Amino acid sequence: MNNTVNILGIDFLNTTINNFINTLQSHLEDRKKAFVVTANPEVVMKARKEEDFMSVIKNADYVTADGIGIIKSAGLLGLPLPERVTGFDLTLRLLSLANEKNYSVYLLGGQDKVIEKAAEAIEAEYPSVTIAGYHHGFFDLNDDKIPSTIEHIKPDIVLVALGAGRQEAWISQHLSRFEHGIFMGVGGTFDVLAGEVQRAPEVWQKMNLEWFYRLVKQPSRWKRQIALPQFAFKVLQLKMQQMTKVPVR
Ligand code: UDP
Repeated sequence: MNNTVNILGIDFLNTTINNFINTLQSHLEDRKKAFVVTANPEVVMKARKEEDFMSVIKNADYVTADGIGIIKSAGLLGLPLPERVTGFDLTLRLLSLANEKNYSVYLLGGQDKVIEKAAEAIEAEYPSVTIAGYHHGFFDLNDDKIPSTIEHIKPDIVLVALGAGRQEAWISQHLSRFEHGIFMGVGGTFDVLAGEVQRAPEVWQKMNLEWFYRLVKQPSRWKRQIALPQFAFKVLQLKMQQMTKVPVR
């Protein structure tokens, strides 16, 4: 069985969330660092448009399928991807693991008040997690202060929420100076942990309509979500190509 599945130029890890958490646990135990990208269709389309961003994604150790669009497309193209492995779910699982094993976590990103509330919520929910530090996400991305703090304190897990693209670029830019740790972009996760934004209710998630729930709740997202039909169109083109053997550009 292949370990990755290529969808529109991105190599997605063929894994379940349970197996992937085991993989990350091995990294933590061996003190071997890992850069994780959780990619949804918006991320795929951004990487196809922006060469620099594609290089950032290629620099990741693991890219997981964050979004039902990726899973459905994999199925349509006859490629195996068992389930979504989202940044939000991975964050919760990593926090549980950190709580069990006393790992330290650094939180980067979100509004000042939001990150403070998220850190408090994590401390309350996962009392054995050490919050190694946190910083809001509105700083000069080239500022050396934050990477140098992380380099110094060597947290086990670094969660970065600077918006899709920026967070992965920041990790990729500074990764070589960190000795160890799991580094992962987590999008709006701190907003949910802080209680500022609600995740889609489970019934919406089960119906694979989480993206629609987010659109209804935050209509300003529509511009980003235009990538969804573009992604679907590209996948359908690819499917046609598979069926007719006519090359698609
Ligand atoms: N964010 C940040 N700095 C920025 C841009 C965004 O800290 O320069 C935070 C924002 O406050 C939110 C998270 O990143 O907590 C995700 O932002 P958004 O939903 O805009 O990004 P998406 O993941 O949808 O691209």
